[in-house]
Amino acid sequence: MPIDPAHVWDGVPAEVPTLLTIDLDAIVANWRHLHSLAAPGVEVAAVVKADGYGLGAEPVAQALAAAGCRRFFVAHLDEAIRLRPHLAHGDIAVLNGLLPGTGRLMLAERLIPVLNSREQVREWLDLAAELGGTPAAILQVDTGMNRLGLPLADFAALIAQPEVQTYPWRAVISHLACADEPDHPLNALQRDRFLQVRAALPGVPAALAASSGIFLGPDYHADFLRPGVALYGVNPCPGQPNPMQQVVHLSARILQCRSIDSGETVGYGAAHRSKGPAVIATVAVGYADGFLRSAGGMGAAYHGAIALPIVGRISMDLITLDATSLPEALRHAGTPVDLIGPHRTVDDVAADAKTIGYEILTALGSRYHRRHLGLPAMHPTYPWHGTGA
Ligand SMILES: *Cc1c(COP(=O)(O)O)cnc(C)c1O
Repeated sequence: MPIDPAHVWDGVPAEVPTLLTIDLDAIVANWRHLHSLAAPGVEVAAVVKADGYGLGAEPVAQALAAAGCRRFFVAHLDEAIRLRPHLAHGDIAVLNGLLPGTGRLMLAERLIPVLNSREQVREWLDLAAELGGTPAAILQVDTGMNRLGLPLADFAALIAQPEVQTYPWRAVISHLACADEPDHPLNALQRDRFLQVRAALPGVPAALAASSGIFLGPDYHADFLRPGVALYGVNPCPGQPNPMQQVVHLSARILQCRSIDSGETVGYGAAHRSKGPAVIATVAVGYADGFLRSAGGMGAAYHGAIALPIVGRISMDLITLDATSLPEALRHAGTPVDLIGPHRTVDDVAADAKTIGYEILTALGSRYHRRHLGLPAMHPTYPWHGTGA
């Protein structure tokens, strides 16, 4: 059931000025939807790096694990170490690779390195030989991103060694540079290179597609999908209708309302000048909360379907809204307005701030009071546990 803006504040203490509601059921629905786009047998992993794109790696991973997800990716080793105790089952792989000397820590913590260079592969094979086993590791091959992963020539050299060829790799992956531009020629080039990589490692599960890559079609699906942002409701198909469910709802209570005369200005730099008598409402969200300053004077907050345009500059802790269209009875402290909700998506906020939804999500502030709906089990970090009702 989608978040009901009329009830997000139910039971929230009066002293809470801003509320970030995260719909774990919607994340699970998005994961299932991506599953449905692929052929039977294609798995769907989940990328939960950067604290689950700002939404809480632990509750997100727990919800997805309960739905059947068995492969998780983070960026840093310490993210993986923090997540491990909260996930009884499933792989946790570290995209950034094996930092020198961290192999034993990886193993002790039941983590899986994504090996990105010949040195990392060498270190892992030496460790495996020393311990007399074949601990799980993933190979990443760079097919055109030129960021992380084995260059193709290095991969070719490695794969000529029998110990690499026969190692039971947990997976082989690569990453697309331009998947959000379906017509970009690099997509097909990277796919074709990846097909050759796959052919060199028969039987090793292969993954190429992140969120946008999934929508390039089955040619890009390989054995498992590796979405991040689409799980969290951001549109993986820019310029087209969003196939994903909205996950995030950001609401703030009005702190104060004031009436101003025609010609009066609002906020720093007097950047907004009122064209007529107006009501200004102030809410406790600012750039320190990840509400980017570049979105000043853009878009609106909503009370129900009533738009309250954001006016003036965004300050560190505050935003000012033109609340002239708000009925008089609601022009007071405590009235809630939605900054992200049914009338304004994460992608809308991103467009206003001249950035992408990824940056809006990962910047969501630590001062927001957070409520996860649909949490499968109690977790001590999160004070409120909605029922999903
Ligand atoms: C971040 C990342 C992903 C997920 O990307 P989205 O675009 O958020 O789906 C997948 N694979 C790698 C290697 C990544 O770095």
